[in-house]
Amino acid sequence: MFKKILIANRGEIALRIQRACQEMGIKSVVVYSEADREAKYVRLADEAVCIGPAPSAQSYLNMPAIISTAEVTDAEAIHPGYGFLSENADFAERVEQSGFTFIGPTPESIRMMGDKVSAKQAMIKAGVPCVPGSEGVLPEDPKEIIRIARSVGYPVIIKASGGGGGRGMRVVHTEAALVNAVQMTRTEAGAAFGNPAVYMEKFLENPRHVEIQVLADSFRNAVWLGERDCSMQRRNQKIIEEAPAPGIPRRVIEKVGDRCAAACKKMGYRGAGTFEFLYENGEFYFIEMNTRVQVEHPVTELVTGIDIVQQQIRIAAGEKLPFTQRQIQLRGHAIECRINAEDPYKFLPSPGRITMWHPPGGPGVRVDSHVYTNYFVPSNYDSMIGKIIVHGDTREQALARMRMALNETVVEGIKTNIPLHRELMADAKFIQGGTSIHYLESWLSHHDR
Ligand code: ADP
Repeated sequence: MFKKILIANRGEIALRIQRACQEMGIKSVVVYSEADREAKYVRLADEAVCIGPAPSAQSYLNMPAIISTAEVTDAEAIHPGYGFLSENADFAERVEQSGFTFIGPTPESIRMMGDKVSAKQAMIKAGVPCVPGSEGVLPEDPKEIIRIARSVGYPVIIKASGGGGGRGMRVVHTEAALVNAVQMTRTEAGAAFGNPAVYMEKFLENPRHVEIQVLADSFRNAVWLGERDCSMQRRNQKIIEEAPAPGIPRRVIEKVGDRCAAACKKMGYRGAGTFEFLYENGEFYFIEMNTRVQVEHPVTELVTGIDIVQQQIRIAAGEKLPFTQRQIQLRGHAIECRINAEDPYKFLPSPGRITMWHPPGGPGVRVDSHVYTNYFVPSNYDSMIGKIIVHGDTREQALARMRMALNETVVEGIKTNIPLHRELMADAKFIQGGTSIHYLESWLSHHDR
């Protein structure tokens, strides 16, 4: 096992990784920007090194600074967390070339999944169900594009192969708008991602977002750890996640989960990963794979009892998975609310000093957060300041515990989205379960404040 790991991230996930290291008896090195000097995990780290000013480009995205910090501190491995450099294949490659272990998949896997067309082709080959659409990148010939759209059936969505973060997509409802839409998406994709290639998919009108968590080791063993429903989203940003997904028959999920694990074996995938699907009318459709730990990983940890971050570290250290698929049991129900420093209804970021932080507690309540009373939320980064995660024997119990947890939580000095979460936990449709990815936006448009 590694003796020392460098954490190339910030905020709650830096603390989460640090906790995993501490529990395993591994020393942690934290890199931080000038804006994060006061952070709790920086003070708790065995070693902490300032790698640059607040802007991410000069700190958390600064590959030479991160790698040379690993060199001077004698760290053996680098955990990238999520966001920042976590899905950057060049970074993974440079880490390994510099003699360190990248805690994640191979650069080849990251590269393949980072390109949506190659990811989709790999999934089709591996038998993972995908959204019907063009076979690969759309050709230049407008007649061909029209022919493909007719065979897919309107509405269609044009997506950039190199896209991400909900950008580089355009829905097309009629043939008249098609060729122009393809052209515009190509131009935007070229400018934004340096790759003008686009492809076409059937546009699903009212799907849910359901994803499968996988773990795979370097010996072609792979398991899936159940699913997460992340349909409560605003502008493609998830705000509530839960496991299991309400109301989907187990056999349907087991079928797709087994396909995901089989795909990992086939591709030689290593590490933690998430297969994201849209789910509509009883069918799963793959949209993309994330080759890193996800924000919402705790809901899976609570229903499986498996520490995903520790498993990432063990896999990177060359250990075999300590369980088989049959040994993985799902127990109860877990829900996560992302706590953001923002206006709960206008969504404007609300950085600043937290004058009072009182987190919730009690049975089945977990709080993953790096903040504390007197912590200053910098304006330079994502507005998420923590996550409240609850577990119960049933979804009803989990909901009740989340309501209590949200009521107990006190955050003063900045605005947070806790009032929105409180309302959603009392919403009849959400309580019923199984809302689509459009539900939250439509709820918000009917609850004008
Ligand atoms: P990104 O990497 O930018 O997040 P995704 O491929 O994961 O892109 O898609 C992001 C979101 O766009 C999905 O969660 C869904 O809301 C919407 N979307 C993508 N593809 C489709 C589709 N074929 N039909 C309907 N909605 C889609």
